[in-house]
Amino acid sequence: MQASMQEFPLRVSEIIDHAALLHPDRPVFGRSIEGPILETSWREIHRDAKKFAAALIGLGLKKGDVVGVMAWNTPRHLSVWYGIPGAGGINHTLNPRLFADQLVYIINHAQDRFLMVDFDLLPVIETIIDQLPLIEKIIVMTDRNHMPDSKIPDLLCYEDLIAAQPNGFDWVQGDEHEPCGICYTSGTTGDPKGVVYSHRSNVLHAMANCAADMMGLSSNDRIMPVVPLFHANGWSIAYSAPMVGASVVMPGRDMTPQGLFEMLELGVTFTAAVPTIWMQLLQYLEQNNLTLPSLEKVIIGGASCPRSVVEMFQNKYGVQVLHAWGMTEMSPLGTICSFKPEIMEMAPDNRLDIQETVGHAPFSVSLKITDDTGNDLPWDGKTQGRLWAKGAAVVKRYLKQEHDAVDVKGWFDTGDMASITSHGYVRITDRSKDVIKSGGEWISSIALENCAVAHPDVAEAAAIGIPHPKWGERPILVIVAGETRPDISEIMALMAAKFAKWQLPDDIVFMAKIPHTATGKISKLLLRKKLAAQNYMLPV
Ligand code: ADP
Repeated sequence: MQASMQEFPLRVSEIIDHAALLHPDRPVFGRSIEGPILETSWREIHRDAKKFAAALIGLGLKKGDVVGVMAWNTPRHLSVWYGIPGAGGINHTLNPRLFADQLVYIINHAQDRFLMVDFDLLPVIETIIDQLPLIEKIIVMTDRNHMPDSKIPDLLCYEDLIAAQPNGFDWVQGDEHEPCGICYTSGTTGDPKGVVYSHRSNVLHAMANCAADMMGLSSNDRIMPVVPLFHANGWSIAYSAPMVGASVVMPGRDMTPQGLFEMLELGVTFTAAVPTIWMQLLQYLEQNNLTLPSLEKVIIGGASCPRSVVEMFQNKYGVQVLHAWGMTEMSPLGTICSFKPEIMEMAPDNRLDIQETVGHAPFSVSLKITDDTGNDLPWDGKTQGRLWAKGAAVVKRYLKQEHDAVDVKGWFDTGDMASITSHGYVRITDRSKDVIKSGGEWISSIALENCAVAHPDVAEAAAIGIPHPKWGERPILVIVAGETRPDISEIMALMAAKFAKWQLPDDIVFMAKIPHTATGKISKLLLRKKLAAQNYMLPV
């Protein structure tokens, strides 16, 4: 017997068609790179995406060609986001904060043929262009008046290109398994690895992401993705928002608390970014006595969200926090901490405990924890193990690698350590390479850090293991002070209330700055190098 249902290839172009048909006038605001805040709509983004797809084909783009895009979150970027796959191309997001040699590596490795760039980021491309032999055309994402002078000849102007196109381009059709986007992991060790998303994986992932118990996004929301589109598939927001017809606010390149606050005041109900962005914003709100009247929900992920941030958002500003976990390899959603009824019944303090977990997986993501030899571990909320994932939008094999990134049963080792409660709520305790092993026991660096930042004078904290002759490793805490330097005894007292004696750090070291990766996370690799360069020794 054959199933009776239609073939309906899950292509991302369907998403933007849907938004333009069903939600044509929904406002899309954006801080342009040229300066002013502009307003457009899904109808216009769709129109420009089609024109841009036609322009790419006019320039010679063939199905499967890769287009590198180095751009901030703007409405124009949304048209490019759909124009490239709509022309049959593959959208390769480029993080301008990567080291030059990493950018060169990923652009050449993915074999980008064209490059798109915001005009303020052109200098980044100018410094590496001589090492990019495969690039044929560079399109600057601006209008004729803002085209910069450059040593690169024959730059193309985005607005000129689309102005020259008629309306009504038909999207390039194809199989849902065709590639549609590429994002590289940031490669804290070794070369970055390319994750190639398919049309199908992105559509299914966006559907899972929008579900009520996940982001729960709807056409009544106005969402501001602060997380850049070049981080981990932009957390899928550029797919999820038009899929449900949400209104959008694109913050542009201004990530200062002042800049973000100005954009939040455009009636944003929903927003998403890494914890450091929110710590800075909360501080700014406090200092200036401001409120967040329209904001209802904030997604915090990419790194562990301290309890103090959750408490502040919820208790002081009435904004619900959705703590989320994911990774580039998972498109990126793994889990979101929404409340199942079992959690709703809990006392508020216990619910806060749950919000220290990253929540549960949606349909289409399967998770398990194992010991080092691969045996399944129980979901009892205590037992810690390696976290594995499987799913419709989880990587199988990195670009151009000879071997799969999954085991024979299709499980991908996330590289994270976690415990899982009986309700399926996942607590990320560490990246496996960062876990501190002392006397055969594991100490969670994330738990130590989150406890330390609860002190009002601690701006940032990083816990790392330092080799120890007797215990293997012992934890130390590196701290960046806030406005006043915190008292070490106060921090130790905070920790002593939460941890067993053997888990407490052996030392607290102050640093003016902790090194970060290109995605804004603490780089423990560089931090270890920095301490080694200072000949750091554990106190005896
Ligand atoms: P990169 O490796 O470039 O930082 P990813 O965004 O893919 O890129 O990083 C994914 C990793 O970030 C996860 O494997 C996990 O270690 C960490 N992470 C993401 N969200 C959380 C969270 N809520 N809590 C703790 N760690 C997180």
